[in-house]
Amino acid sequence: MTVLVTGGAGYIGSHTVRALADAGESVVVIDNLSTGFSHFLPENVPLFIGDAADENLVEGVIAQHNVESIIHFAGSVVVPDSLRDPLGYYRNNTMTTRNLLNAAVKCNVSRFIFSSTAAVYGNPDYMPVPEEAPTRPLSPYGSSKLMTEIMLHDVASAHGMNYVVLRYFNVAGADPQARIGLATVGATHLLKIAVEVATGQRAKIDVFGTDYPTADGSCIRDFIHVTDLAQAHRAALAYLNQGGPSVTLNCGYGRGYSVLETIEAVRRASGRNFAVQYADRRPGDIMTMIADTTRIRATLDWTPQYDTLDTIARHALAWEEKLLGERGTEPRQALSA
Ligand code: UDP
Repeated sequence: MTVLVTGGAGYIGSHTVRALADAGESVVVIDNLSTGFSHFLPENVPLFIGDAADENLVEGVIAQHNVESIIHFAGSVVVPDSLRDPLGYYRNNTMTTRNLLNAAVKCNVSRFIFSSTAAVYGNPDYMPVPEEAPTRPLSPYGSSKLMTEIMLHDVASAHGMNYVVLRYFNVAGADPQARIGLATVGATHLLKIAVEVATGQRAKIDVFGTDYPTADGSCIRDFIHVTDLAQAHRAALAYLNQGGPSVTLNCGYGRGYSVLETIEAVRRASGRNFAVQYADRRPGDIMTMIADTTRIRATLDWTPQYDTLDTIARHALAWEEKLLGERGTEPRQALSA
């Protein structure tokens, strides 16, 4: 019983590959290495460098490795990019999954786990947001993922497939042993930017909006440690292997932290008092995003291990320091944030 992981050399994919391998699963990866790194994979996990949309490649890997389940991460994930290039997002996310599902159906793969996003909810009417809340994405990224969810649902009904859709909230942190983490250059995510500032790679961090009607005026997010998210994928696979029916699950902790609290956690972790600048609201930002986690906790055998902001900040910082060391750079001349 082998599981095929597309995008397995990326940030969340590589943490999941390790979680699966540590649990004794047989794993094979397809990744085009556009944003992933082959050295993020354990030595004994085969990597096929190519596109998840390449049906010949996918069918060959399924046949060669007796693949019975697929976990599909491969895709594009930057919301502002999706606004500039919607067709690129519909190709990389929706159309790629269409090809992958076609190959899966032809080869009788009957279990599928899909990386979706809280962006499918758009601006929810109430918090925390449950899975049955209306889906009104505000970006092509969110739409491309929602379209894929719909397609997966239809394919599963027609072809006897069972699936788990995992809707990620704000994923952050890194492997607790700092073996892998977020290595994207030019990342826009809050915690990544905060640890880049803390390690001297940027001069300051901007807080986008301090006039929201929240306790401290900044936005609120439900951060989930990437290792806990990886374990949610392992648990989702176990759930499907035990015959669990198709289900859509929010992945978060059900608890929100403000942007200012998050920056403060990175200050605490680093012991450095770096520059924080209050800036205008970032267009398109949702004020508060918190998962209702009732369903995932009831459905999967999953207990988060790293669910404090201080732990997430500590692991993100340790990874960033390691990355910086590997690049052989002393804290560079600060870039403008
Ligand atoms: N944010 C910020 N400064 C930054 C990056 C992000 O204030 O340099 C804020 C952003 O406006 C949002 C929150 O942090 O309110 C989370 O943003 P991120 O891009 O990490 O994730 P999103 O929730 O947009 O997917």
